[in-house]
Amino acid sequence: MHETSNFIKTIMKNDLENGVVDKIVTRFPPEPNAYLHIGHARAIITNFELAKYFGGVTNLRFDDTNPTQEDVEFVDAIQKDIEWLGYKPNIVVYGSSYFDATYEKAELLIKKGLAFVCDLTQEELSEYRGTTTTPGKESPYRNRSIEENLRLFREMRDGKYPSYSKTLRAKIDMASPNINMRDPVIYRIIHVTHHQTKDKWCIYPMYDFAHPLQDAFEGITHSLCSLEYEDHRPLYDWVVEHTEVEHRPRQIEFGRLGITNTIMSKRYLKKLVEEGIVKGFDDPRMPTLVGLKRRGFTPSAIKEFILSTGLSKINSSVDYSMLEHFLREDLKLKVPRYMAVVKPLKVVITNYPEGQVEELEAINNTENPELGNRTITFSRNIYIDQEDFVPEKPNKHWKRLAKDVEVRLMHAYFIKCNDIIYNEDGSIKEIYCTYDPETKSGSGFDKRKPNGTIHFVDASSAVPATFNHLDFLILDQYVSSENFMERINPNSWTVYQGFVEKALATAKPGEKFQFIRDGYYNTDDDAKETELIFNRIVSLKSSFK
Ligand code: ATP
Ligand code: MG
Repeated sequence: MHETSNFIKTIMKNDLENGVVDKIVTRFPPEPNAYLHIGHARAIITNFELAKYFGGVTNLRFDDTNPTQEDVEFVDAIQKDIEWLGYKPNIVVYGSSYFDATYEKAELLIKKGLAFVCDLTQEELSEYRGTTTTPGKESPYRNRSIEENLRLFREMRDGKYPSYSKTLRAKIDMASPNINMRDPVIYRIIHVTHHQTKDKWCIYPMYDFAHPLQDAFEGITHSLCSLEYEDHRPLYDWVVEHTEVEHRPRQIEFGRLGITNTIMSKRYLKKLVEEGIVKGFDDPRMPTLVGLKRRGFTPSAIKEFILSTGLSKINSSVDYSMLEHFLREDLKLKVPRYMAVVKPLKVVITNYPEGQVEELEAINNTENPELGNRTITFSRNIYIDQEDFVPEKPNKHWKRLAKDVEVRLMHAYFIKCNDIIYNEDGSIKEIYCTYDPETKSGSGFDKRKPNGTIHFVDASSAVPATFNHLDFLILDQYVSSENFMERINPNSWTVYQGFVEKALATAKPGEKFQFIRDGYYNTDDDAKETELIFNRIVSLKSSFK
């Protein structure tokens, strides 16, 4: 981990120095109800990196106490995501593995007079709970005897009652200013098959009861979670205090990470998928880890990004351009720089012999010679990008091709445009240029200065390719969860058909490149040998300050 400090690291260091703990044990506890997003990456990286820093370990625990929402599809996906980020959990467990022990602790609370079975309906429960400004009302069932509570709770467990008809509640304080402490429900009845425990249970513990117990059973020393759990900490501590657990874990909250122009919550990401706004959880525009991966973001760029945003006690929204910055930094020296023409314009070199093809040497990465060289071809017909040509040079700032203007073709020759051939509709069909054999790249020619350097792809060996240009899913920088569906960017995906140089013919899904003067690209998962598809990860130009 970076040698930067954060408040949790300081707490851990003190706890180790003062003998409060002798080894750091953390956990990442996702609910397997959706794919992970980059906000989760903050929790994952924080837990794993901090534990690693102190020589400790991190468990992966699926928080599966909410069986109606969960699915094994997500269990597998989450494990893959964590592995992709480069982490190996100490153990992989399910919250449901502790259902027996959790149940025992619930009985213990009953026996201590600290929990009771309540018959209030869900509506009544919320009515009795009160609000932040008004106290709650005690349940009429609050004073049942220990024996009656035990009998009823066991009957709940044995399936005698319908779903949600009874609850087990901790007996704490209905007048507490903290609503979470107002006799919170700790068990409810749900007759549903659980993806792990199948039909063994029809009562399920609530997160607030199960989580501190699981942390205690596992010997978690520092239970890190996001800020919204701050108000739940008194209940966490209450559970730890009254359940006679051997190990006492401690909960510490940190701020949630947000990113501009995207929506992060799993619930909303699901909605984007279900409404067909995106093509799936791994759509390259999604802030999910599978989406970022498909787009071409690398684990190290994500890690650097997360670590650079630091860890604070407040929620924060980070500019998307910062994520882009770390991707460019990561790939700058690692990937070859090839030529691709996204919006092709055909160029005929009229003084180049028909049928002749020559090979030219090109360096793969000017900043990293270790990536070696390749050969490219040059012939009478080439493609340049439409954006590199205007019929008439508009002003002295135009450093590309125009009629009667000479430019350098990267790795090749100077060419000058002499003629423009138009289609019937007035659009440009192709342009005619001449090249100067004396200006070959590497020849040291210096008699004339070209009007800029542009890239090209030789038509004789060009490979057709599809380019996906991706933009923000949400139009606004700061997204409101209420109306984000009305603020969807209708132009977040543009497809271009162009050409790449032959070195790219064998690009495999996941392979990344810089396309010169354009951006960093990832070979899409759907790309095949006969059908190249590239996703632009980021453009070369940075707006990051
Ligand atoms: P969401 O609100 O997006 O649905 P969640 O908090 O319900 O996410 P969990 O599966 O419960 O998702 O999250 C697992 C862990 O990841 C939790 O400890 C949670 O605090 C943390 N986490 C989730 N989103 C973020 C975020 N944006 N920033 C930091 N940590 C997060
Ligand atoms: Mg959650």
